[in-house]
Amino acid sequence: MNTYLNTGIELAYLTAAALFILGLKKLGSPATARNGNFLAAVGMLIAIIATLLNQSVLDYEWILVGIIAGSLIGAIAAQKVAMTDMPQMVGIFNGVGGAASSLVAVGEFWRLLDANGTVPLDATFIAILGVLIGGVTLTGSLLAFAKLQGLITGSPVTFPFQQPFNFLLLASFLAGSVYLLIQPANPAIFLTLTTISLLFGALFVLPIGGGDMPVVVSLLNSFSGLAASAVGFILYNNMLIVAGALVGASGLILTQIMCKAMNRPLTNVLFGAFGGDSVAVGGAGGAEIDKTYRSIDSEEGAMMLGYARSVVIVPGYGMAVAQAQHGVRELAAQLEKMGVDVKYAIHPVAGRMPGHMNVLLAEANVAYDRLYDMDDINTEFERVDVALVIGANDVVNPAARNDNSSPIYGMPIIDVDKAQHAIVIKRSMRTGFAGVDNELFYKDKTTMLFGSAQDVVSKLVGEVKQL
Ligand code: NDP
Repeated sequence: MNTYLNTGIELAYLTAAALFILGLKKLGSPATARNGNFLAAVGMLIAIIATLLNQSVLDYEWILVGIIAGSLIGAIAAQKVAMTDMPQMVGIFNGVGGAASSLVAVGEFWRLLDANGTVPLDATFIAILGVLIGGVTLTGSLLAFAKLQGLITGSPVTFPFQQPFNFLLLASFLAGSVYLLIQPANPAIFLTLTTISLLFGALFVLPIGGGDMPVVVSLLNSFSGLAASAVGFILYNNMLIVAGALVGASGLILTQIMCKAMNRPLTNVLFGAFGGDSVAVGGAGGAEIDKTYRSIDSEEGAMMLGYARSVVIVPGYGMAVAQAQHGVRELAAQLEKMGVDVKYAIHPVAGRMPGHMNVLLAEANVAYDRLYDMDDINTEFERVDVALVIGANDVVNPAARNDNSSPIYGMPIIDVDKAQHAIVIKRSMRTGFAGVDNELFYKDKTTMLFGSAQDVVSKLVGEVKQL
């Protein structure tokens, strides 16, 4: 009977793993993402049920308490948390994953020690790995959450002798690990290693600027997967090994995509504070250009848009902050009624998390086939009458293309400056995330339309209706 049950459980795990992989594949396109999420959730349900059937489960009561509490927290968070706060929600969930892995590693070390008076070499090694990755993920994620939520300063935090201190800690961790591998019956050393791991997480995230936290969250997501995979080896659980490896790999790939789209190596994100002081047009040296700009009101803006043949909307972080996506869709619908061809240009790192604009526009029911990737739309801009930039800044800054002294030089951008006209909706002339002034705003073909995106867009809708 047991053999049949075990085979059934392994088959269920295999099905769940296949569903995870299929789900991940479908997450690659906005059109299939919802379906992908659903498939992965079904996979997780299968994995949980199969695990609960495992005969070595000792106590179902506490598991039930955990399931109810976790489901409630998850459901409330999914309903309540604003789209702009998604990075910190993912951050805190990663932290919980790291904590779970650490606890399993500690629990298993203790169980083996209690049962045999010692711990086998392979289990000790994996337990050390589990507490190290899990501990770093836990405290790192909690600090990333605190930075993103504004509970602590978003600026990089450094202190004297930080590097030597980190080095000393690392050396102690390595020495302690070697000792434990030779003398595993030593819980005090194991607990010291656990504490150092927790400290590592804090020391890793503290010197990184708040603006770079989404990249850090993605990296910690990858770590949480690796930690789960490690404890999968201690528990001999194939599901944890596979699911953890999938999370680890996808988190790492996402981190890489974000770094590439920002044209910054990961080492620069992790070790180079970014997004502090403003940088003038012309780069860090601030070579002067004519900084005259032209501003218009919504009536003039509506005329330009209403009488255009083609309009490309370029959303950015400001649209997310203002929650203007519904108004934007209404504006586009109104323009389309008047025969204007409307498209959306999506930069991979517009906003503050990958896919940020896709998610917001999908929430407002914008059809997927209206959304164009940066590379596809860039070939069209010379034929576009009006590019309507809504709360975007860095992702349309030509300095990334033209000015090799600019901190964002080399970052791929949406070529709004090549359109016949550009209208930029934002509240002021302030810089965006990278703190770099934007020469687009001073070009003859550009007009500024000041105000919060939601107000301006709703005024534009009203004006366009009257044309
Ligand atoms: P930016 O941060 O460059 O600019 C956003 C602009 O929105 C600001 O200049 C601001 O101007 C304006 N804004 C803010 N609030 C409002 C509002 N209520 N109404 C209208 N405008 C508003 O955003 P982008 O999307 O162009 O670029 C994203 C940046 O974030 C890039 O530098 C990217 O590298 C970085 N990043 C992205 C990540 C991702 O995964 N997407 C992760 C980490 C970093 P004003 O104050 O004048 O209104």
